Amino acid sequence: MIVCSSCGIEMSDKKKMCKSCIHDKIKATWKRQIRIYSIISALGAMLLMYDISEVRALPHNADGIPTYLMGAAALGGLAVLGGLFGLVLAVFFNVWHREKPA
Ligand SMILES: [Zn+2]
Repeated sequence: MIVCSSCGIEMSDKKKMCKSCIHDKIKATWKRQIRIYSIISALGAMLLMYDISEVRALPHNADGIPTYLMGAAALGGLAVLGGLFGLVLAVFFNVWHREKPA
């Protein structure tokens, strides 16, 4: 007799976990992804805002934007874009797996 390694329920197929536990695990994974991507895009937005305020604080006769500010802007932009992209995907798959399998 095969039992689920997570909840101990008896099952017919030769998997380690029952459908319900696999479903819960997938759901938890996507919830974690959503949290991670939210943090990434929030940090990217903070970096961008910091960067914008730094650029605005530059004297008007400054010779262009310093390299580190350009780099920070690129990094912040990438973090926001990447974070939002991952967030959309994670939310999509989270909704996708919302229905419990019968
Ligand atoms: Zn189970």
